[in-house]
Parts: sequence; structure tokens; C-alpha cells
Amino acid sequence: MILTDKLKQVILHPPVRDIRHQTAYYPSSASCITVDPDTGLRKAIGSCLRKQWYAIKGVTPTDPGDSANQLKKEMGGVIQALIEDKLKAAGLWMASETRIWIPKYKLSGRIDSWVWDPKTLDRGGAKVPIMVEFKSTGRFQEPGTIKLSKGKLLPKDEHVAQVLPYLDFYSQYPGYFHGEPVRCIVFVIGRDSMEWCEHVVFLGGSGHFGMPLKEEDRYAIVQNQAGTFQLKYITLKGIYNRWLQLTEFLRQKQIPDRDYELQYSNDKLAKLVGAGQLSKTDVGKIAKAQKGDPEGKGCWLPKGDWQCGWCDWKTHCYQGIKHKQPDIIAQEQPSAGVSTPAPVTEPIGET
Ligand code: SF4
Repeated sequence: MILTDKLKQVILHPPVRDIRHQTAYYPSSASCITVDPDTGLRKAIGSCLRKQWYAIKGVTPTDPGDSANQLKKEMGGVIQALIEDKLKAAGLWMASETRIWIPKYKLSGRIDSWVWDPKTLDRGGAKVPIMVEFKSTGRFQEPGTIKLSKGKLLPKDEHVAQVLPYLDFYSQYPGYFHGEPVRCIVFVIGRDSMEWCEHVVFLGGSGHFGMPLKEEDRYAIVQNQAGTFQLKYITLKGIYNRWLQLTEFLRQKQIPDRDYELQYSNDKLAKLVGAGQLSKTDVGKIAKAQKGDPEGKGCWLPKGDWQCGWCDWKTHCYQGIKHKQPDIIAQEQPSAGVSTPAPVTEPIGET
């Protein structure tokens, strides 16, 4: 190996690093809480509050990703630049990396790109801008996200949640959009096949026609080649409330509960089986384990949330709690393309 050691060194420990203290929340960490209609269980969408708490408090990561994971994250930026070049050639590109700041929630974000709606270019007259958020994914064609699968074609919930604050921010400026809804295209592209899918996200209700709506009335709507979907479980109020809660945790110097699980309980596994949310293989393994352990004293199946499996603070968070490594973690990987905006100056949480 001639290059590997030096490459790993520069990838994991770049000579120029941003070591500023995080002083704002980022839309890429947007999250909300809902209830899974099939299991009746609480379900988190997006970033774990406890994970954000560790980052803000400056807790040293116990499980930082390896060099390959870091490259995957950076690949998102490379793909964004490639697609933007094509958009420029098509005469559609308008701007890149524009910033927003929502003081009420100390929210600092950066929108990947803006394009002109081709329809408005073709007809002449006022040109209408549309935001674009790029997301790359490693899995072949990403069934249900890039390719229609079992009637489903939707972006990941966390990607939808991320763009709602952008849409909210720009809803203040309806004049920019000449009567058209404020929209953001979540452009998802597979790193392996380079196939892609566009999901157009906008805010539900009639706020986009100039009628102000309360946050609780505003939810995500997604349009793509499979149709129009109202995601009423992803609301602006739900997203903003989570950052308000985190601020309160920080102010009170309390650590938030875990939003995800490194290992599901047997009770949860049984509910997932009942809701048809596990593979046939997993259902078979659980049935076999249940026979030998009907009282559920042991772990029926090593399985948990990928969010914990990929978390930089996994060991710290589960210190003293013994688990087998859940196998679901190997099936998922973080999406690339989320850029971290530069922090702003006002402190968050602690006073
Ligand atoms: S390990 Fe899981 S619960 Fe703990 S901070 Fe990370 S994502 Fe949250």
C-alpha cells in the first residue's frame, strides 16, 4: 500500500478544519415525532436530539466514521457540482449555497442550489425560482426513493423535514415567486447507478397563495412522477418544537432521551412482526428464538435503528449497556450531500 496511510490521514485529519463551537441549529438536523400507525409506537423522523446535544456540548465522538464514510459524505458535494454544471449548460442554474437565518429558532441553513422553473423560461415573462437540495444515496436505485417500488415513491422523511424551514423562510417573500408556490426539489441520485429522481416539496395548506397560515397548519406535500402525497405527519410546528425542546434541555443542563434504539426490545420486535415491517428471514429467526425463549429473557434478534449504528457517539451513549451489534445497521448508510452551514455568532441553549 503506497498511498493508503497518507490518504487516510488527510481524509480523517485534514490540515484545515473548522473547529468553531456550534452556535446555531441546522436544517440538516431537522426532526419531528410521530406515531407509527401500524405499531402504535412513537417514531422519530430525522436527527436524534441527544446526538445534537452531544455535538453542541462538544462531547468527543467515541465512534467517528472511517475514511470511506468520510469520502461518501464528501461525494455528495462532487455530485452536486456535476449536476450544477449540467444545469448551467441547460441555462437553468440561478445560484448556489444561499444562506438563511431564522432568529426565532436560531436556525442557520444553506440551500444547495436555485434554478429557474423551465416552464416559466419557455413562456417568457417573469422567471420563477425553485430551490434544489441534492441528496446522494449509495444503494442501487434506492427502491421507493429513486424507483417506484410497491406503489411507493417518496424521498426520505428526514430530507423532507430539512427543506420545510427553507420553504417557510421564503414564504415571507411571495413576490419572488410571482404567484407560484414556493418549492424545493429534493434531487436524489444513486452513487452507483447515477439514476435520479426529483421530488418537489412544498408546504401544505393555502399559505403558498399568499394567505398566512399558522405553523401547526403547515405540513409537507410531495409531488413526483407517482403522484401528489400529503405528509401531514411532517409539520413545521413539529420541527420547530424539537429545537425549542433542545434549547430547554441545554438551558436546564439535562441530556435528552434517546430518540433511537441500538437494540430493539423483544416487545418492539413482536410489534414489528405484527405490523409486517420485518423481512421473512427476520420473522423466521424471531419465531425460532421465541420457541426456545418464550418468556423473552434473552434477545430474540440483534436489530436496531441505523441512526444509532452510524452515530459518532454510539459507545458513549450506550456506555454500560451490552448489545450485540444489530444487523440492520449494515443495510443502511448515511446519505451524502448535506452540507454543514457556517455557524452564526449567537449562542444557543445555555444562558
Ligand atoms: S447512539 Fe442513538 S440514541 Fe444515542 S445519540 Fe446516537 S442516535 Fe441518539
